[in-house]
Amino acid sequence: MADTWISVAEGVYYRTCSGFSTNVGLVVGAEAALVVDTRSSAREGREMLAEVQALAPVPVRHVVNTHFHFDHCFGNEAFLPAAIWGHRLCASRMLQEGEAEKAMVVKALPDRAEVTITPPTRLVDTRAEIDLGGRTVVLWHPGVGHTDHDLVVDIPDADVTFTGDLLEEGMAPAFGDSWPAQWPSALDRLLRSALGTIIPGHGKQVSRSFVEAARDDLSTVVDLFRTADDRAEIIARSPFPRDHTLVALHRFLATTEGKGS
Ligand SMILES: [Zn+2]
Repeated sequence: MADTWISVAEGVYYRTCSGFSTNVGLVVGAEAALVVDTRSSAREGREMLAEVQALAPVPVRHVVNTHFHFDHCFGNEAFLPAAIWGHRLCASRMLQEGEAEKAMVVKALPDRAEVTITPPTRLVDTRAEIDLGGRTVVLWHPGVGHTDHDLVVDIPDADVTFTGDLLEEGMAPAFGDSWPAQWPSALDRLLRSALGTIIPGHGKQVSRSFVEAARDDLSTVVDLFRTADDRAEIIARSPFPRDHTLVALHRFLATTEGKGS
């Protein structure tokens, strides 16, 4: 269903974009619309804006960045002057590392050179509510996990949850900026509130059992990091591919100083 907006509740849509299978969302209220993530370039952001304007009879006044990875926020500039929401650390990571991330991305994808790094200016620490007119969207931080600043986007009246890359369907988790030891707890918090439709950061919508399985796989690999005799045993028993497992191990050691937590 790549490149098609899918309606999951009245006024709530998502689209799985070709390329990275990144999901973007649209939530429509009586007075304003909100988008979840903005794709990976200014051009893709403009394309997305045109699509959501065709779906929503009200202006897009709010953008939420689930985290700072380029495929979720490099289209931000296309939505200005909408308010751009993100975790406080999402904004600082984009300010500090956005140009370096862009330089890395441009090597493989030259059209990203046109991107102007546009960090969130409406900053969230733990929780925020956004009123769209007759509909409230809740942003909250479940603790460190995929990054140190993931935001979950809940639409309580529709029982829809956007999780960003705390969950990825059809591919192994991206561990490069992760906090592996704490990630399972973040998913436990997610399970306490996500009772309906769950849209991951990549791939198809998922069920609660998918979230439980993702949590269990993360717990398994973290247990291996704590108890296995050597890397060969970790790689042999890990639920994830070798390269993902080694990045996860590196991040586990970096974020727990090798002491466990
Ligand atoms: Zn990510």
